[in-house]
Amino acid sequence: MRLLEEKIKKDGRVLNENVLKVDSFLNHQIDPNLMNELGKEFSQLFAGEGITKIVTIESSGIAPAVMAGLYMNVPVIFARKRKSVTLTDDLLTASVHSFTKNETSELAIAKKYLNENDKVLIIDDFLANGQAALALVEMVQQANSSVAGIGIVIEKSFQPGAQILKEQGLRVESLARIASLSNGEVTFITEDMEELI
Ligand code: 5GP
Repeated sequence: MRLLEEKIKKDGRVLNENVLKVDSFLNHQIDPNLMNELGKEFSQLFAGEGITKIVTIESSGIAPAVMAGLYMNVPVIFARKRKSVTLTDDLLTASVHSFTKNETSELAIAKKYLNENDKVLIIDDFLANGQAALALVEMVQQANSSVAGIGIVIEKSFQPGAQILKEQGLRVESLARIASLSNGEVTFITEDMEELI
C-alpha cells in the first residue's frame, strides 16, 4: 500500500537490522487518517469472506482493527495480555513470546465473544516470527470459530512469520512488506521481487 510505505519511509526509524520503530503513527502516537485508510484497505481485501468478527491483540493492533471493523461493520475483540492468567474457565487462552521484548505473556479472550458460527479476521500491527498471530489463531480455534484470514499492517518478510502462517493454509494479507532493514534503511518488496518469491 503506497500511502503506508511512504509514511514508513518518512517517519519510521530503523532501530537495528530486525526492528522498525513506528511510534509516531502506529505504536504510540496514532495517525487516525492513516488508520482509516488501513481499515478501508483491509475491508476491501477481505470483502466476500463473510467475516463476522475481528480479533486483534492489545495494544497496537487495536487502532487498525477498529477501523477495519467500522468498514466491515463487525465487532472487534482484542486479546488481553497478562503476566499470568488464573481462573481460565470462561477464557480462551494462549501464551506468546515476544522476541522484540524478550518476554512471554499470557493472552486471554472471554469465551462469550466468539462461537462456532464466527468467521474471524485476525489483525495485527507487525508480523515477524508469527508468534502473536499463531497465538490468536489458537484462541479462535479453541472457540471452534474459523479463521478467514490474517491482516497485517507491516510484515517483515525477511523473518519467518508469513511463511509459517501460509504453510498452515492461512491467508495472509500485509499492507506493507519489508524485504530488509539493512544499513539503517527500509527496503520494501517490489513487484519484481515478488516474482522471485
Ligand atoms: P511476532 O509474534 O510475529 O514475532 O511479532 C509480532 C509482534 O511483535 C507484534 O505484535 C509487534 O508488537 C511486535 N513486533 C515485532 N517486530 C516488530 C518491529 O520491528 N517493530 C515493532 N514496533 N514491533 C514489532
